[in-house]
Amino acid sequence: MKILVLNTGSSSVKYRLFDDDVVAAKGLVEKIGEDGGDAPDHEGALRRIMDSVDVDGLGAIGHRVVHGGADFADATVIDDAVVATIERLVPLAPLHNPPALAGIRVARKLLPDVPQVAVFDTAFHQSIPAEGVHWAIDTELAERWQIRRYGFHGTSHAYVSRQTAALLGRPVEQTNVITLHLGNGASACAVRAGRSVATSMGMSPQGGLVMGTRSGDIDPTVVFHLHRVAGMPIEDIERSLTRGAGLLGLSGVNDMRTLLQRRDDGDERAALAFDVYCRRVREYVGAYLAVLGRTDAITFTGGVGENSAPVREAVLAGLAPLGIDLDEQRNADRAKVISRDDSPITACVVPTDEELEIATQTRAALGG
Ligand code: AMP
Repeated sequence: MKILVLNTGSSSVKYRLFDDDVVAAKGLVEKIGEDGGDAPDHEGALRRIMDSVDVDGLGAIGHRVVHGGADFADATVIDDAVVATIERLVPLAPLHNPPALAGIRVARKLLPDVPQVAVFDTAFHQSIPAEGVHWAIDTELAERWQIRRYGFHGTSHAYVSRQTAALLGRPVEQTNVITLHLGNGASACAVRAGRSVATSMGMSPQGGLVMGTRSGDIDPTVVFHLHRVAGMPIEDIERSLTRGAGLLGLSGVNDMRTLLQRRDDGDERAALAFDVYCRRVREYVGAYLAVLGRTDAITFTGGVGENSAPVREAVLAGLAPLGIDLDEQRNADRAKVISRDDSPITACVVPTDEELEIATQTRAALGG
């Protein structure tokens, strides 16, 4: 089946056309609405894509949607009711859901006869049990304002955990994996028998691990203090914690490659940022070993996870007493399996492919 995958952001649309699992075309329309950009608006962007790819015989369009709230536990065939629900979820993802909605609306208008499927970043985590979902705050407030853990990067964690089971030669249903998606955004996930049972991001993609420019977990008092004592308006605090924190906040650079270079050149802030980053990942590995009990594998993915041997080493070094026996040479060589043969828990590196997973889930939602 021919499937077009669309990832519509506020100023760009990424697309990939799959013919079964083969990539037939891919590209990016960017700077939408900007001077000298590729298109004046989302409709123009999608028209451009439809003109440049061969949509003849297109079986479906799969849309990436960041937030599915508590409403979607699976990829879902889009109809008017689904559009209305995604619209209702906008307050939970004010930056991400509106462009996705724009993409859905325009695609339905341009290709009304092609089935369209929404694939949510949150859906994979709907299997997390209640005790891993709720924070210990006033229940009435939480329910009224939909405050709970949703989790993100679900397509990546789903794909990578299945690939890990395949690498181990085990059925997914009998495999427990900790997946570490370390990219610009970063999250950890505990996957039991193919289902997410814990993840580090929360109500938004802001919680959990240290990221390029996002703080990850902090004591909520930081926000009160910056407001009450430092006198910062709430918008400035939000901007600082989401765009000026993480590796960037700690060291002045958000790119892990640059950070590693600076650390090697003796930059102390870069060294501290690296240590804080890796320590946080280690803490989550420890937590998820305890959540899972029996763990078969730990898998690194994402730009940092796939490419940075120093990060992987700092995260897993010295954990042989917990069953993870890292092989430094295999790690440096970026082998698929980076633990020793007799390590009780297998450490792996698996490249993620969110677009392919969206195509796979789109096909599954249509019963193919
Ligand atoms: P992603 O969001 O998955 O594309 O990941 C982006 C991050 O991966 C950036 O912080 C990059 O610096 C990092 N990255 C890419 N290649 C490498 C590399 N060879 N070593 C360390 N980090 C890398």
